[in-house]
Amino acid sequence: MIDRNRLFGTFMDICATDSEPKKERLLAEKLTRHLLELGFVVTEDDAGEKSGGDTGNLFGRLEGRGGGTPLLFSCHMDRVSPGRGVRPRIEGDFIVSDGTTVLGADDAAGIAAILEALTAIKERNLPHPTVEVVFTVAEELALVGSRFFDLGRVAAPCCFVLDASGPVGEIVIQAPEQAKIQAVFNGRKAHAGFAPEEGVSAILMAAAAISRMKLLRVDPQTTANIGSISAAGPTNIVPDRCELEAEARSLDPEKLRVQVNLMTEAMRSAAAAQGGSVEITVTSCYPGYTLAEDSQPARRAASAAQRVGLPVTFKSTGGGSDANIFNSGGLPSVVLSCGYEAVHTTAERIALDQLASLADWVLALISDGADGGHSTS
Ligand code: ZN
Ligand code: CA
Repeated sequence: MIDRNRLFGTFMDICATDSEPKKERLLAEKLTRHLLELGFVVTEDDAGEKSGGDTGNLFGRLEGRGGGTPLLFSCHMDRVSPGRGVRPRIEGDFIVSDGTTVLGADDAAGIAAILEALTAIKERNLPHPTVEVVFTVAEELALVGSRFFDLGRVAAPCCFVLDASGPVGEIVIQAPEQAKIQAVFNGRKAHAGFAPEEGVSAILMAAAAISRMKLLRVDPQTTANIGSISAAGPTNIVPDRCELEAEARSLDPEKLRVQVNLMTEAMRSAAAAQGGSVEITVTSCYPGYTLAEDSQPARRAASAAQRVGLPVTFKSTGGGSDANIFNSGGLPSVVLSCGYEAVHTTAERIALDQLASLADWVLALISDGADGGHSTS
């Protein structure tokens, strides 16, 4: 039922529209026009004002025709850089960028699939339940936009977030909590040649702390990484300041707490051992979630996928998405894999067949939700 060429055209048009975190205005205007043409009521919230961006989250609602359970789909409008001036093109079985930018399939693929499925339904005048969409801003900046979205406006009982790599048919039901650790080591300056004995090197404290940590893959559920370490100074002075940024993630909240404690303890003991000090700030970036395979969104996503012949796999992810925010706000949300590859790189691409399958999947979800739809007949 979907029109592949129209889908590919919509997708490439979205990719070619400049969008960056906190600068989603052009794309938001384009998507608003699309949604209005499809019969949606569209509003934009104040996430832009609240977060210092030029655009808020778009919320659209298309009243159902014929009843059924309301559905909510979500994608983000921003993309990572370099993401302006994208020139998408079809190359063989894939859509690619020209190699100087990302493609932006993350997350244009999800948006285009939703728009195509809705267009196909409108064309044929098919019954459908109420369909809601949330197109968020600044997702790539640690899920900034979705935090400002008011879930009280949603009629749907659950949410399908179209925003994961991996073959179409995969359903993410588990994601980790992430914590960020920022530390400043304070030592004492001294001349490195005349009187190094009088100095306390902040860099050496940081180095000792890091060497005591278990990092990268900590256990099957837990990861940790030092992202940056910085100190500026001439070589002839023992440095008195060194900043360090690290993160830890775990699918198990208790293991995350243990890992964060081990890392901060390593910093404190290394600082104390060398006669310096350390100031540490730990921030929880977003909470994790675990949904059952028979939870409503997982079940509905799986049965719709099976109906269009997609192999279904439930999986957990190591990354965060807007689903972390929605789940923590009490709206059960799964993430659907969109078939894009090598995201956040200039080699990002998506297979034409994967994009078409994603639109088929969305269409099946909507038609399964309609009264008299496949799953209830
Ligand atoms: Zn994404
Ligand atoms: Ca991304």
